[in-house]
Amino acid sequence: MRVCRYDDDRIGLVRDNIVFDVTGALRHLLNVRWPVPPGDLFISRLGELLPAVVKAAEQAKGWPLEDVILRSPVANPSKIIGAPVNYHQHQKEAQADAGISLGREIKTIEHYGLFLKANSSLVGPGDGVALRFPERRNDHEVELAVVIGRRGSDIPRAGALQYVAGYAIGLDISVRGTEDRSLRKSVDSYSVLGPWLTTADEVGDPNGLDLQVSVNGEIRQDSNTRLMIFDVEALIAYASSFYTLWPGDIIMTGTPEGVGPIAAGDRIHATVEGLGSMTVEVSAAR
Ligand code: MN
Repeated sequence: MRVCRYDDDRIGLVRDNIVFDVTGALRHLLNVRWPVPPGDLFISRLGELLPAVVKAAEQAKGWPLEDVILRSPVANPSKIIGAPVNYHQHQKEAQADAGISLGREIKTIEHYGLFLKANSSLVGPGDGVALRFPERRNDHEVELAVVIGRRGSDIPRAGALQYVAGYAIGLDISVRGTEDRSLRKSVDSYSVLGPWLTTADEVGDPNGLDLQVSVNGEIRQDSNTRLMIFDVEALIAYASSFYTLWPGDIIMTGTPEGVGPIAAGDRIHATVEGLGSMTVEVSAAR
């Protein structure tokens, strides 16, 4: 199933490029007490809500996809986890580029572990990316994004995919420089998630998906998730060995080679096999 968030926090079921407004199916989610548990309420109850979502879609008004503004399908993650240098070919290009200009050796995820991106950086494709520091290089990174469906800590690799609610396309936008990744990749709008959440049952094995990104029609990145150094199960097991994963947590699984600069006025088009595609406009924040 494909579930999107659109316009002013409407929830939609997406079928054949039509968005059916099923927001009413979430009505009783509002009946909560402070403090709410960490994570995303909708994602935490997705399994039990989906039957109501499907039923609501039968009577729902439908909108063509191009007529709605797609927001991030996860509204309130407790964290956005990043996977640094999780493709060998990206390590090579980073070594040839940033490694030389910054005078440092680029290693892989096995050395760096993981990093966090600020939740306030999260947007949907319809929100667009607003660049800060335009005098510095800002890069696109297309990634498979994993959305966690239930709470887990010290999750064994063997059962790791049972903790996944679904998948989406992620853009891990980065401003280049010497600062920690957590700062450079946490600028407002530098985490794009979309176009919707595709539930895990529709995806099967996430470690064999083509992913691609083009900028203004020119293909920049074109790879497959089977080339990840830590696959999805390894990322979940490793992340949860450090911190509890909560429903709605997002793991951006790392980017393949071909990262490159973006500028105001650019149009990014990203695709991951089985998850749809999304177009993201780039503007200047200031
Ligand atoms: Mn990345």
